Amino acid sequence: MATKKSVGDLKEADLKGKKVFVRVDLNVPLDDNFNITDDTRIRAAVPTIKYLMGHGSKVILSSHLGRPKGVTPKYSLKPLVPRLSELLGVEVKMANDCIGEEVEKMVAALPDGGVLLLENVRFYKEEEKNDPEFAKKLASLADLYVNDAFGTAHRAHASTEGVAKYLKPSVAGFLMQKELDYLVGAVANPKKPFAAIVGGSKVSTKIGVIESLLAKVDILILGGGMMFTFYKAQGHAVGSSLVEEDKLDLATSLLEKAKAKGVSLLLPTDVVVADKFAADANSKVVPASGIPDGWMGLDIGPDSIKTFSESLDTTQTIIWNGPMGVFEFEKFAAGTEAVAKKLAELSGKGVTTIIGGGDSVAAVEKAGLADKMSHISTGGGASLELLEGKQLPGVLALNDA
Ligand code: AMP
Repeated sequence: MATKKSVGDLKEADLKGKKVFVRVDLNVPLDDNFNITDDTRIRAAVPTIKYLMGHGSKVILSSHLGRPKGVTPKYSLKPLVPRLSELLGVEVKMANDCIGEEVEKMVAALPDGGVLLLENVRFYKEEEKNDPEFAKKLASLADLYVNDAFGTAHRAHASTEGVAKYLKPSVAGFLMQKELDYLVGAVANPKKPFAAIVGGSKVSTKIGVIESLLAKVDILILGGGMMFTFYKAQGHAVGSSLVEEDKLDLATSLLEKAKAKGVSLLLPTDVVVADKFAADANSKVVPASGIPDGWMGLDIGPDSIKTFSESLDTTQTIIWNGPMGVFEFEKFAAGTEAVAKKLAELSGKGVTTIIGGGDSVAAVEKAGLADKMSHISTGGGASLELLEGKQLPGVLALNDA
């Protein structure tokens, strides 16, 4: 993917007095009383907005919230205004719509450095359909476009892709830029040795990632529920562990591919097994080669943690996607926590550590280690697609640097 022009490339002359349409991801969780329960996404959007304010732009913010079907008051962005205003240090104005005359008037009334938040862009079904007429209406509000919504960059929607056709320049925000620097840049040109750790429940959802990373890494560590499909493919007893019977041949071929490419592929040598899928299940550690009947593997064992850690000690770049076990149950979280701790420790020694979205991000945050990593992706689906080597429509639409 070509390097994209960034908002940081735009200076005062490009920005002063200009109306800037900024697609951000403010899709934060709200409780029943519309209190924000996690403001991470709002905080992540701040650097780009402040940069534009500081250079005298009129900032028009667009986001979705939830999955509304038409205008749904429950999914209004209004509850976000106080927190956004507090973080930006200005009184953010709120529009009742995202297109139309009223919105145009509010944009016209914005002072340089002012911020207007448009109402949920998904109140229009045209947004997700990437309707060109709707995209044109959104674009007509502004002079230029900044996309900082990495979490929706894998979707070709009107506000993430369509508007870019009508606004020049169209550039990446700082958050988007950082995601691309790490998930594309660091992965394409890693400091070697380069290791990938892939876990999660099923091999079927990670095939693309594993195949793409096999072409780049020196070490591939596999854990999580998917490991049992690999064990079974090698003829081991897996008890009642999660297995994808239709993916046994694929597992064998991935093992062969790794060998042919000279990638050191590590599977756990021991497993924590449980007598049922529950937080209070009885558990014990057994060798990976023989899981007893009636038991299911829910985490990697202590010997695996040791082997994985030693192997990671030799690396300069690590990318991690997917937990090592059912970390939602305290009893089966040790493997995932150990990997999180190891990566935090190695980050401190100058190793580039990238947490590639989804449940591994939740695990790192739960362990309180988020600020230790080089990069934590804010997008689940988007980061997975990037790691699979796919092009994201929301990124492709931006101008090249
Ligand atoms: P994914 O979304 O594919 O990254 O998978 C994350 C989910 O995998 C988490 O909810 C984990 O609980 C689950 N998982 C991890 N290890 C296992 C396992 N051994 N058996 C069943 N589920 C697992």
